[in-house]
Amino acid sequence: MLKLKPNCECCNRDLPPESREAVMCSFECTFCRTCAETLLHGACPNCGGELVRRPIRPAAKLARFPASTERVYKPEGCGRVA
Ligand SMILES: [Zn+2]
Ligand SMILES: [Zn+2]
Repeated sequence: MLKLKPNCECCNRDLPPESREAVMCSFECTFCRTCAETLLHGACPNCGGELVRRPIRPAAKLARFPASTERVYKPEGCGRVA
């Protein structure tokens, strides 16, 4: 099951499961669209893979299959100073 991470790894912005601003790579590294476009140029800084929009999990399924609450924040990987 896809891990819906709660924030952007680059800017720590909240990305709730219903956000259409969330993008992710095949390893579920998660970023906001702004960072993906301006800092990362569409490629994951961790694995080099493609970043695509994260699909929205239907709200009715979130009760049984909740989003992850474990924040991952690695600004140093995004070309930012921590
Ligand atoms: Zn971001
Ligand atoms: Zn990745």
